[in-house]
Amino acid sequence: MSGAAYVHASVHDAAAEISTPGRLLLVECEDCGLRQTIPSRVEDGHVDCVRCGALLSKRTTRGVEQAIVLNMTALIVFVLANAFPFITLNLQGRVQNAEIVSAAYALYQDGMWELGILVLLFAIALPLVKILGNLYVMIPLHMGVRPPAARFVFRWMELVHRWAMMEVFLLGVIVGYVKLISLATVIFGIASFSFVALIILVVAAETFFEPRTVWERLRPSPPASALASIDPKELISCHGCGLLNHTVGAHPHCERCDAPLHHRKPNGVARAWALITTAIVLYFPANIYPVMKLNFAGAKQGATILEGCKELLFGGMWPLALLVFFASVTVPMLKLCGLGFLLVSVQRRSKWRLRERTKIYRIVDAIGRWSMLDIFVLAILVALVRFGSLATITPGTGAIAFAAVVVTTMIAAESFDPRQIWDAAGANDER
Ligand SMILES: [Zn+2]
Ligand SMILES: [Zn+2]
Repeated sequence: MSGAAYVHASVHDAAAEISTPGRLLLVECEDCGLRQTIPSRVEDGHVDCVRCGALLSKRTTRGVEQAIVLNMTALIVFVLANAFPFITLNLQGRVQNAEIVSAAYALYQDGMWELGILVLLFAIALPLVKILGNLYVMIPLHMGVRPPAARFVFRWMELVHRWAMMEVFLLGVIVGYVKLISLATVIFGIASFSFVALIILVVAAETFFEPRTVWERLRPSPPASALASIDPKELISCHGCGLLNHTVGAHPHCERCDAPLHHRKPNGVARAWALITTAIVLYFPANIYPVMKLNFAGAKQGATILEGCKELLFGGMWPLALLVFFASVTVPMLKLCGLGFLLVSVQRRSKWRLRERTKIYRIVDAIGRWSMLDIFVLAILVALVRFGSLATITPGTGAIAFAAVVVTTMIAAESFDPRQIWDAAGANDER
């Protein structure tokens, strides 16, 4: 019997059993590779991996319907947040407004189109795509209809989610505000309050929602009992939707979401090394060259990341100086050292503290996005401080190198497969 025929047959069983409480599904932990069972219904409990502590399933009683309401509200608030001025600067009677999109446009106008595109993607486009993508899949599902290409759209939502950084942008606005209050009068517009509401709605939609609810509606997983007789080596966990597929033959694809299947992320260690090396090389220009150029009444001056922190520190804003220093200097360093350490330990087949090393990976993966803070601060300052010879801020070359460090380290963390920490120590040898 072929693999495809097998999975189809067990899905049929699963459909019959879907409403039976207590049915168990077999899943593979994405962080350590241990296979274990979880209850099929998300109402039945919060499940952490017994070996590494990774979250396997959230307990939630709120389903697709509540996620639709939150995403719909978020869509309305998104329009408000983008239609009105976010922040207004008043310098000696001259007024400059900035919408979120003008922060991206200002970078483009000053010749840094690469940074403009990053800000546009991370602060506006991807958050919008995420809301629209969720609604596209969930509204028809709620009405009992399966929308075209639902599995592709929902699989891409996971990736979009990683790169949507509204909360980091908001922090950037706050830092920008503090930097400007000594220079001019700064007023928050209606859009800034909408933006805060938008972040709260999006976080709520994520917190109360388990994506498995949608995956199980698109195609139920076979019960664990149906997989028990299969050779474990023929089962591959899908990176896209988490389904354990029974695979036979070359280049298999997931039965549920059509993602290409791999036992581990392909060439994870080599790709992560290549990206880390690139990031280390870029780290030098990022810190040596100015990230912004200031022109106040004819006096021109460049400011590197460290000088930006010093300015906040000497202005008495030490909590913010620490925050910017942490996000812009410490986090990239920690990420590079943390990932380098994990890669070396995997190559040396270390058995030392597997659970703690997996935690290091989770931290490295989670904190990376916050380094975009300085780029968002720059975008806000460039968009607002445009008063000709009186006061102007323009982006510097260091900013491009810095943004490249942030993006390459984020991709490096994503390329590495933490299950290899456990594989290298022989912890997954039983299958
Ligand atoms: Zn685990
Ligand atoms: Zn899949």
